[in-house]
Amino acid sequence: MIDALIGTAAAYGCRVERDLPMAELTSFRIGGPADKVITLPDIQAAAAINGICVDQNIPHLWIGKGSNLLVSDAGFRGVVLKLATGGVPVRTDETHVTCFAGVGLPTLSRFAQSQGLSGLEFACGIPGSVGGAVLMNAGAYGGCMADVLESVTVLRGDRAVEIPAGELAMGYRHTTLMQTGEPVVAATFRLAVGDPAAMDARITELLAARREKQPLEYPSAGSFFKRPEGHFAGALIENCGLKGRRVGGAEVSQKHAGFVINVGGATCADVQELAWQVRTVVRRETGVLLQPEVRLIGEEWKTVEE
Ligand SMILES: Cc1cc2nc3c(=O)[nH]c(=O)nc-3n(C[C@H](O)[C@H](O)[C@H](O)COP(=O)(O)OP(=O)(O)OC[C@H]3O[C@@H](n4cnc5c(N)ncnc54)[C@H](O)[C@@H]3O)c2cc1C
Repeated sequence: MIDALIGTAAAYGCRVERDLPMAELTSFRIGGPADKVITLPDIQAAAAINGICVDQNIPHLWIGKGSNLLVSDAGFRGVVLKLATGGVPVRTDETHVTCFAGVGLPTLSRFAQSQGLSGLEFACGIPGSVGGAVLMNAGAYGGCMADVLESVTVLRGDRAVEIPAGELAMGYRHTTLMQTGEPVVAATFRLAVGDPAAMDARITELLAARREKQPLEYPSAGSFFKRPEGHFAGALIENCGLKGRRVGGAEVSQKHAGFVINVGGATCADVQELAWQVRTVVRRETGVLLQPEVRLIGEEWKTVEE
């Protein structure tokens, strides 16, 4: 079964790696080995491989740039599927841009700016792929993917199907794709004609704000918790005196309490324990139960008493 999959992957020009530590595929630099990692160069390859995995019930996990993932120290038993990061966005008319979902969000944001198309400036510093960002409805500084996404192309088995963004029920860090598990292979954005110099200035300003406020010098998965209604996770955590709290190599960032960082050799178990301590204390002190934004692979979050 797996041999047939690998044979097809080779025929489509995919890269296949065995026993690859997921730590090498995630911005957290955490995670045990994946049995196989297949990097897919284009939609045709992705469709063929997805079709086989779905038809034959082969355990598989789609990832993008791994910038919102915490992977178990035991790794992943099955096949990790990853779109290649190369590829160039294409402007298809006056206001539309389309691209392969493996493309990095900063690349897409910069492409739009260079074309004088506004709407994706908010995305310039989000280190994910277009596919991962669509799935998560990633957002920052008052913008999110839902504001500009026109349609996505997903895979149903080995078929590519285009879906209007309006059918994805996009909300705060939520889309229906999280339930369907359908991989995103391409996306089309509707942007507004704007002034490239003004957009460039906005991008520079947003990147500087990130450098100033976020612990970008350490591996992390970005904001660890979702924003609870009426609160900011970072402020709640800081007010509970948890800044700098450490378990093993995992630490609540001193610079931004909403980030859990890997200060060196952190394991998934360290992060699990730290996240549980933070959630437990914040729940007890403020009544708010923080929910992780980071996607945990291979295990469940430790339960916090309600
Ligand atoms: C320093 C830092 C700053 C960040 N800032 C922000 C921010 O401002 N705003 C924000 O929203 N996020 C932020 N993030 C989190 C992260 O970058 C986003 O969630 C991003 O959209 C994840 O994309 P990814 O390609 O890395 O997805 P991954 O982390 O690889 O995967 C995330 C989820 O998407 C799924 N997935 C990935 N690719 C596909 C695909 N092609 N089809 C279907 N499912 C797929 C995975 O299975 C997983 O469930 C930050 C992270 C870091 C490390």
